Amino acid sequence: MSDISEAGTINEKPLNFLEEIIENDLANGMEAIQTRFPPEPNGYLHIGHAKAISIDFGLAKKYGGKCNLRFDDTNPVKEDVEYVDSIKDDIRWLGFEWAGEYYASDYFEQLYDWAVELIRQGKAYVDDQSQEEIRLTRGTVTVPGKNSPWRERSVEENLDLFARMRAGEFPDGSKVLRAKIDMAHPNMMLRDPLMYRILHASHHRTGDKWCIYPMYDYAHGESDSIEKVTHSMCTLEFDIHRPLYDWFIRELAIYPSHQYEFARLNLTYTVMSKRKLLQLVQEGIVSGWDDPRMPTLVGIRRRGYSAQGLLNFVERVGVAKRDNLIDLGLLEYSVREDLNKKALRRMAVLDPLKVVITNYPEGAVEEVQAVNNPEDPTSGTRPVPFTRELYIERSDFMEEPPKKYFRLSPGKEVRLRYGYIIRCDEVIKDAEGQVVELRCSYDAESAHGGSSDGRKIKGIIHWVSVQHTVPAEIRLFDRLFLKEDMGNMEEGKEFKDYLNPDSLRVVTGYMEPALQNALPGDTFQFERMGYFTKDKDSTADSPVFNRTVTLKDSWAKLSE
Ligand code: ATP
Ligand code: MG
Repeated sequence: MSDISEAGTINEKPLNFLEEIIENDLANGMEAIQTRFPPEPNGYLHIGHAKAISIDFGLAKKYGGKCNLRFDDTNPVKEDVEYVDSIKDDIRWLGFEWAGEYYASDYFEQLYDWAVELIRQGKAYVDDQSQEEIRLTRGTVTVPGKNSPWRERSVEENLDLFARMRAGEFPDGSKVLRAKIDMAHPNMMLRDPLMYRILHASHHRTGDKWCIYPMYDYAHGESDSIEKVTHSMCTLEFDIHRPLYDWFIRELAIYPSHQYEFARLNLTYTVMSKRKLLQLVQEGIVSGWDDPRMPTLVGIRRRGYSAQGLLNFVERVGVAKRDNLIDLGLLEYSVREDLNKKALRRMAVLDPLKVVITNYPEGAVEEVQAVNNPEDPTSGTRPVPFTRELYIERSDFMEEPPKKYFRLSPGKEVRLRYGYIIRCDEVIKDAEGQVVELRCSYDAESAHGGSSDGRKIKGIIHWVSVQHTVPAEIRLFDRLFLKEDMGNMEEGKEFKDYLNPDSLRVVTGYMEPALQNALPGDTFQFERMGYFTKDKDSTADSPVFNRTVTLKDSWAKLSE
């Protein structure tokens, strides 16, 4: 990954295509740019949204413009204030602040008036066909669609019917308002697209005021135009919608916002569609939207990912015009790199093996000074109690070591991190032959990384004092899905068929006492074990830690 860390220095990159467009517009007399981030409040934001946020807010910031937060709340059935609040929280967590907070529903009256205007101009009509009939008469890419029998209604009749649709005279699905464009248009989006449907449903903001709701394609561009958005960025799948976006703006002769499309972020071993994420939550496959295995921003935040690490990742991925699949390892790398600079080091043993230092005085407690973060000289040191009985990691001992095993084995020496050199003198086993204790002796002259008397001690292992240790529940997460490209499933399979049954493993860890004061959300490097974050499920007596990310990419090694 060294190439990435070199190329990863941000700001020195060539302009991406959006920056080129914006710089060109500014050079040609545009005074300032304005963007918007338009989430639908029907779920929690995910890693993909972080890319959109970093583009929408990031470009506005870079070019001294404004970015609005606009909730695209035109679908009352699936939307909720719970989502509105979490979305705002997530954007702030990423470090962005919006110029204005708007809701497409704030524009319902204006959108209605403009629809009336289009009817007056003979460019929209009320259609009595069912959804099914409309679908069947749209034609295909090669076959033109058929005109609706209601397409030639008079302006007066359309005005009357549309007003009565609004007044609630008709049941759901009995009528729609359609733009009158061209049923034979090569772009199917322009074959008399729907503008309004009847939906007797309460809206989380407008309550029961409306029983007709505008469709995305009609509401989106017009909302952009009302706010005077100059550059309306969205993902590639909307490129076929652009002619329609332009059509409404042109026919209404309103502020000419423009839409630009960039590639969605897709990650290996991950699904990001809100519909699927909702399913994982509703079916109890994960513990909630903020389950640390979820790709939601609340999930990865709880897991301990840093906002900066995520932003660095998004920056590295860049802005492209073609869809691609990004290696989850790159995200983990970016998070690791950021945490390496910031996280305090601590010692914790996740799979304990007891060590008794037979020549160390019983009852004695010594404080060794441990470095808090070698990457940050200002972070200082902390005392760690050292005693006769310690836990070390079971994997740091091997009874019959292979060559080049530098950790503990019978008769061999190892250095305890920040402490003494110890030698393994005796291996104690239980009735089943399982190693339960190591009897060791220490070299009193070798304290704190001091003299080793000319011996070469290559192995350094972490440890905790048994008497002082704080037990904690440690949640070891792994990727939620086993398939690399979740966008490309085999015939007859669904995304849940690829769930990783071992995505969560819970163990008891033994932590050094300094971790007792950690607060939920605090992230540490447990030396040699990875980055860990204190979870909100912690209580005063039983702390819980999430493994944020390992120190190295264990999967990359497996596939080597
Ligand atoms: P999903 O398909 O995951 O349900 P969505 O597109 O319906 O998401 P919105 O709330 O409508 O979600 O999205 C808000 C903005 O975020 C849109 O501009 C959308 O294009 C962008 N966005 C959504 N998913 C991604 C992604 N994976 N990568 C980049 N941008 C995304
Ligand atoms: Mg959407």
